[in-house]
Amino acid sequence: MARYDTLVANGTVVIPYVGARRLDVGIRDGRVAALADALPPGEADEVLDARNRLVLPGAIDSHFHLGIYRDLARDAESETASALAGGVTTVLSYFRTGSHYLGKTGPYRTIFPEVVAATAGRAHTDYGYHIGIMTAEQLDEVDWLVGEHGVASFKYYMFYKGLNLTADSTRGSAYTMSDTYDLGHLYLLMQEVAAASRTQGARGRVSLSLHCEQAELIRVFIEQVKYRGPGGLEGYHRSRPPLTERLAIAEALVLADATGCPVNLLHLSSAEAVASGARGRRDLPHLDIRLETTLHHLALTCETAGGIVGKVNPPIRTEGDREALWQAVIDGRIDTVVSDHACCAEEDKGQDLWKALPGFGGTALLYPYLFSEGGRRGLGLARIVELASANPARAFGLYPRKGTLAPGSDADLVVLDPESQQTVTPEVLQSAQDFTPFAGMRVKGWPTHTLLRGRVVFAHGAVQGPPSGQYLKRPVPPLP
Ligand SMILES: [Zn+2]
Repeated sequence: MARYDTLVANGTVVIPYVGARRLDVGIRDGRVAALADALPPGEADEVLDARNRLVLPGAIDSHFHLGIYRDLARDAESETASALAGGVTTVLSYFRTGSHYLGKTGPYRTIFPEVVAATAGRAHTDYGYHIGIMTAEQLDEVDWLVGEHGVASFKYYMFYKGLNLTADSTRGSAYTMSDTYDLGHLYLLMQEVAAASRTQGARGRVSLSLHCEQAELIRVFIEQVKYRGPGGLEGYHRSRPPLTERLAIAEALVLADATGCPVNLLHLSSAEAVASGARGRRDLPHLDIRLETTLHHLALTCETAGGIVGKVNPPIRTEGDREALWQAVIDGRIDTVVSDHACCAEEDKGQDLWKALPGFGGTALLYPYLFSEGGRRGLGLARIVELASANPARAFGLYPRKGTLAPGSDADLVVLDPESQQTVTPEVLQSAQDFTPFAGMRVKGWPTHTLLRGRVVFAHGAVQGPPSGQYLKRPVPPLP
């Protein structure tokens, strides 16, 4: 009997926190069995030649929105196929009750099994969920979600308070479908997450993710921009300016300090936001604070994002903000880069900036864009796999089963051709989304093969085989 099911031979393997080395990877039973200078090809059933190619741990796209605007099951299938095209082998998707997604509220004891059932057998990548705790009733379910369902991360949206304030009803909001969604709710939620982290966090991190934009400031700035302009994406940026991120971060960190809750500051979009997050980490060294940015905030500006189709929260900003984010990626202040993938149709964007749905997809660009633009800016290979794979795996309770290539870890591998070049179109991204704000970008460095637990699931531009992604209970147990 062969010692390996598959041998990935002759490639340059990139190990996070270590670097790039010429190594062969032997795979058996879906896991990495051996890494060595040379493994005998005769001992493998199949040999995948990675000569002149890079071999990377599969990316963990830790900010995803399966089913936010489309049917959850259909989205799970089409959007994880797009993920494979960019070398993503695990997606961690946000889910919450309220408007969009399933469009209903209630206890997660009934709703969460429905979410898992809708995605079971449909995803091409492994997947897990971060859960938005939207109601007082759901606060009591945090511990149960961690312990029973392996949900190791939760979410709070700082700006939904504004949606409550502007709702017609004086009691609660049609959007969040909850009575009180405010800093008081956040305080209670942080207490719950901090408690779950203390009792269940020994195996891996349990944390709260925060969308940091401050609601009352947004209300004022939107009124000003609607009255005075400017229009377009520059107007959108000014209607939710970096000050709103900075204040939301300050509010969130005061409460994190009071409760000891581990937090993730999501999709930082501006120089001011990243400075606030980094300052918070410096001033509160006893807290566990992680900083995230997105591909679109690294790649696009108000001028280049294609107008209304580039609407997203927080907004795409200026060239100065983009440069500041790149600086923070390179100097290590930012821990993770994600796509914040939210598939929608061009028709959902429409002609009215204020009514257009926010968000769009980009997961297929995760490794290619970081490799292409990061390479141009001197970002090392090890840092690229740390930002897109190892750091998100550690932040969200998946490491070292995911996020690295080591004996015993899942054989989630990407073989990437550093010379292959493509101009971005919706077709290249292989998503159900019929447009892309990244259109026309020249990107160099695309996966030729993506392996999920040892099986080739994407090769030479096409998904291979039916969906084989599995639900991941987090924190994952230690390696055997
Ligand atoms: Zn998001």
